[in-house]
Amino acid sequence: MQLVCLDLEGVLVPEIWIEFSERTGIPELRRTTRDEPDYDKLMKFRLDLLEKHRLGLPDIQKVIADMGPLPGAREFVAWVRERYQLVILSDTFYEFAMPLMQQLGYPTLFCHRLEADDRGFLVNYHLRMPNQKREAVKRFKEINFKVIAGGDSYNDTAMLAEAHAGILFHPPENVVREFPQFPVCMDYDEFRAEITAAGRRIGDA
Ligand SMILES: [Mg+2]
Repeated sequence: MQLVCLDLEGVLVPEIWIEFSERTGIPELRRTTRDEPDYDKLMKFRLDLLEKHRLGLPDIQKVIADMGPLPGAREFVAWVRERYQLVILSDTFYEFAMPLMQQLGYPTLFCHRLEADDRGFLVNYHLRMPNQKREAVKRFKEINFKVIAGGDSYNDTAMLAEAHAGILFHPPENVVREFPQFPVCMDYDEFRAEITAAGRRIGDA
């Protein structure tokens, strides 16, 4: 059986922090690991900022629900699920992703979680494990799945390399340059064609 593992942000839904920053008019939330390489510091900074702006989880989820998935993502997810087993591997958090997963028909999602206090303010985050994207693909291979992986960014490249076939979807130019071994798709039609070709190439036994 063939399994398709997809990244979420930048592949099926917008970059959540960046889009959230624009919709709420809080520019500091655009900060990424490029500006603050210490992920723990970055997350604490983001959670503090949300509380400072009096944004609790229900407010945040409302903004995220309004973003919606990327145009064509819902149909693309349905196409994948009719032909393969689909697991979404993401470094986002369930509490953020769920309003968007509802709009995608609730495909399986492995990601991290946030902790809110009883007023609804986010006080902490919990990563399920380090390098979960690559580790998940490794485990799927151990239980005899053939894995096709698709993602758009640096944090996907280990999973793409671990899979039987790795595909870049709408990646930034520097990722294309640094990882010439992966085919590049710029829209869902190309992505469907590349997944189909990869599926034929790697076989399912
Ligand atoms: Mg991404």
